This record gives sequence, structure tokens and C-alpha cells, in this order.
Amino acid sequence: MAAGQDRPINEVRRRDKAVTDEGWIEAFLHSGAWGALATVAEGQPFIHTNLYVYDEGAHAIYLHTAREGRTRSNLERDGRVCFSVSEMGRLLPNEIAAEFSVEYAGVTVFGRCSVVEDDEEKAHGLQLLMDKYAPHLLPERDYRPANQEELNRTSVFRVDIESWSGKKSEKEADFPGAFWYDGVRKPSPFSPGDTR
Ligand SMILES: Cc1cc2nc3c(=O)[nH]c(=O)nc-3n(C[C@H](O)[C@H](O)[C@H](O)COP(=O)(O)OP(=O)(O)OC[C@H]3O[C@@H](n4cnc5c(N)ncnc54)[C@H](O)[C@@H]3O)c2cc1C
Repeated sequence: MAAGQDRPINEVRRRDKAVTDEGWIEAFLHSGAWGALATVAEGQPFIHTNLYVYDEGAHAIYLHTAREGRTRSNLERDGRVCFSVSEMGRLLPNEIAAEFSVEYAGVTVFGRCSVVEDDEEKAHGLQLLMDKYAPHLLPERDYRPANQEELNRTSVFRVDIESWSGKKSEKEADFPGAFWYDGVRKPSPFSPGDTR
């Protein structure tokens, strides 16, 4: 058996980097900008990048897509999912290439994801997304919440969290030569002035 296969799926091998503080994991999920939802269809892995919101009371994650698509069709066949949120910190140079490193933080969630059919819960999940991503805008004051027709053409998904793990690698502020990738990366489609 390959190393690792005999351990629980959410056990972090590098215990020095594991974050077991559930409060930290929850705060990280609350702050994450987007997540990667992994599904599987007939042995073929898929990754779906989405906005998401963590509903602490329900211990669940809500996401949404258009009514039809791969996310929904995969989940209707197999609800097992893995969901990941991560952040990249500074790059950490070293005189030896193999010792180069990076700061990071991440949470991986395992659970079951279902398509939410109940309109009340769909509206709840969508409102939580609005509250997370546009906390400065209020329903009815700044926008009209989804109506029935809009709910009908939207798929809302709920990941019921079964287990999770947190991992973080962070060095001291004055780590020699530490730098941000943004300062050296090639232009992205959203770089100021990029015309692609
Ligand atoms: C940061 C971020 C946040 C997003 N948030 C949302 C969200 O909250 N709701 C939402 O509906 N969509 C969101 N999207 C777009 C999302 O990734 C999907 O394109 C969308 O959800 C449709 O998924 P689907 O499974 O129905 O797509 P389908 O079109 O059915 O997927 C079929 C195939 O299209 C390709 N494909 C689908 N999406 C992408 C992609 N993003 N990039 C490259 N190839 C792709 C893949 O090969 C996939 O197997 C987000 C994208 C990003 C990058």
C-alpha cells in the first residue's frame, strides 16, 4: 500500500503545519474568496471553481450555478465531494533551489453535496452568498432578491461537511528575501492595462 493510503483522508502528514483549531478553520472558510469543488463521474475527476459561503449553523457550504451543467449532472450521479480553499503568501527564496518554499494557508473539506430543491432553502443559500460577497449592499434597499423564475433557473448546492483539515505555513515577517509573486508574475487577464 502506498504511504498515506492507510491514514484518514483529512489527516495532515506534516503535523507541524496542521491547523487543528476549528475556529481558525471556520474563520478561513468565512474569508475565502472562492473555492474548488471536486466531483467525480465514472472515475473521471472534475474541479469546479465557484463562489461559496460557509453556513456555520448548518455546518455546510452553499454554492450556485446555472440550472444545467457538469457540476449538477455530476452531483446527481455521485454526491461525494472534496472542496478546497487556499491562499498563497510570500515566496521564500534560498540559495539551494530545492529549499525554495512558499507561505500558504488552506482548508480542505470532505463531504456530500446535494442539489437543493426546496425554494426556501435555495433562497437562503443565495442570500448568504449575497451577504458574504456584497455585505455593504442590502436586499430590498440596494437590490431585489431572486424571484421564482430566477430560482427556477439556478442550481443551489449544499455540501454537508463530514470532515475537514487546515494547514498553514507562515514564516517570520523579516524572512530574508521573501517576496510576493504579484511583483514578478506575467500579466493576467485582470492585470491593469491588459487587453486580452
Ligand atoms: C473564481 C471563480 C468563481 C466562480 N464562481 C461561480 C459561481 O459562483 N457560480 C457559477 O455558476 N459559476 C462560477 N464560476 C464559473 C464556474 O467555474 C463554471 O464555469 C460554472 O459554474 C459552470 O459550471 P458547469 O459545471 O455547469 O460548467 P459546464 O459548462 O457544464 O462544464 C463543462 C466543462 O466546461 C469546462 N469549464 C467549466 N467551467 C470552467 C472554467 N471556469 N474554466 C475553464 N473551463 C471550464 C470544463 O472542461 C468542464 O468540464 C466561477 C469561476 C471562477 C474562476
